[in-house]
Amino acid sequence: MTIKPEYPYNGKRYLGNTNEMKVHDLENENVNCQIDEIKYEHIKMYDYHFQAKDNGFVDCDYCF
Ligand SMILES: [Zn+2]
Repeated sequence: MTIKPEYPYNGKRYLGNTNEMKVHDLENENVNCQIDEIKYEHIKMYDYHFQAKDNGFVDCDYCF
């Protein structure tokens, strides 16, 4: 997956998984990120990486 305009991705680059509190970079997605497995209610999107960090997300080991 790369950046997608539709809900719940909304064209933003950084995807926070609120279930694991991990943030993924969709521009550098790795198959191990399993973005498609993340439930919509657990997705919080950000334009900037620091915004996710400020909200307590930890970097994914695969895409960062
Ligand atoms: Zn990732």
